[in-house]
Amino acid sequence: MIYGERKVKAPIRWAMVGGGKGSQIGYIHRSAALRDHSFQLVAGAFDLDPERGREFGAGLQVEPERCYADYQTLFAAEAKREDGIQAVSIATPNGTHFAISKAALEAGLHVVCEKPLCFTLAEAEELRALAERRQRMLCVTYGYAGHQLITQARAMIANGELGEIRMVHMQFAHGFHSEAVEQGNPSTQWRVDPRYAGPSYVLGDLATHPLYLSEVMLPQLKIEKLLCARQSFVRSRAPLEDNAYVLMQYSGGVMGHVWASAVNAGSMHGQKIRVIGSRASLEWWDEQPNQLRFEIQGEPARILERGMGYLYPEALEDDRIGGGHPEGLFESWSNLYYRFALAMEACDAGEHDRVKTLHIPGIEAGVAGVRWVENCVRSADLGAVWVDYR
Ligand code: NAD
Repeated sequence: MIYGERKVKAPIRWAMVGGGKGSQIGYIHRSAALRDHSFQLVAGAFDLDPERGREFGAGLQVEPERCYADYQTLFAAEAKREDGIQAVSIATPNGTHFAISKAALEAGLHVVCEKPLCFTLAEAEELRALAERRQRMLCVTYGYAGHQLITQARAMIANGELGEIRMVHMQFAHGFHSEAVEQGNPSTQWRVDPRYAGPSYVLGDLATHPLYLSEVMLPQLKIEKLLCARQSFVRSRAPLEDNAYVLMQYSGGVMGHVWASAVNAGSMHGQKIRVIGSRASLEWWDEQPNQLRFEIQGEPARILERGMGYLYPEALEDDRIGGGHPEGLFESWSNLYYRFALAMEACDAGEHDRVKTLHIPGIEAGVAGVRWVENCVRSADLGAVWVDYR
């Protein structure tokens, strides 16, 4: 159970790049990082518009001289201070992630970067090599990976409760962009422009989330081949897709399927994962995150509720309140952020084995997401054919 005590020896001096006023994701980064006193927000380059960023930083109680005009000045100026930042979170549009992460690692900072980590596998591997060389953490915010019922699913699968794993079905399919809403919404506009979004829209923006949940639940699965078909139902979005289907063949004959969509009219969020074994299946849906459906063949379906004593002990460790009360995205992100802080502290102490026990989406998760998108795009652009995974 979490009661809010600080888990790290001292709060990590932390800054944000992006995540400014009006941004979609900035607040949850701050809420999660600051919740258990693991981080202290002391600086930032919060906005593309320096003046707006400074004003916003003041509202967050950041000292005016530590609200910088851009990330280059932020990293350079903070490096000169004895109490300079130790970590930075990057919550800017995709096209900036590579350059900002690279500059942050070169400045000796731990990094939390939004997904997708960058545009190409070559860039992702360059960041991995740099993080390894500088011995810095590079984490990625697949937010629901911190939810206790994802931990429960991982434990149930590892303990053989589903039998032999046969299939994995994933989806992240909302309906918010069923029309060309980007015409009046800057947050959506860059998402459908390859210059800022990269080689995909929904594959990178949405599908990588449940894909990472599958990696957490089923770490043994390795993709061998995949086939992807992608479409732009709102035609002005081409060449980027607003809908995609991906079929995957894993080692050992396991099959997988991902549906990613921003045009699933009427759907609110629609992020789901269903793992099917020879004996039973598990299903989790982000719109009802406190319930995990467990269906044993030939028996009535069971709903496992978060916070209940029948769950595995590791699925209870991060509860902040008992069962019955809902915990969701904000708690899940907070769980990830306190683990990021512990990982940064362990990394500083050279305790790399401890980092491995923390179950965080680190650099491997970032690289895996970019690799998957690259393979999907290759398959789709060849005409939706099976391709070997590389
Ligand atoms: P947004 O367009 O709503 O906000 C982007 C923010 O970054 C704005 O405040 C903008 O002023 C600022 N910005 C842009 N370039 C900057 C720069 N060079 N320096 C400083 N600030 C800069 O975008 P968003 O929807 O918040 O998405 C940001 C990132 O977060 C994207 O990579 C997106 O894929 C990701 N995201 C992740 C999740 C998740 O669940 N993990 C959810 C939504 C978005």
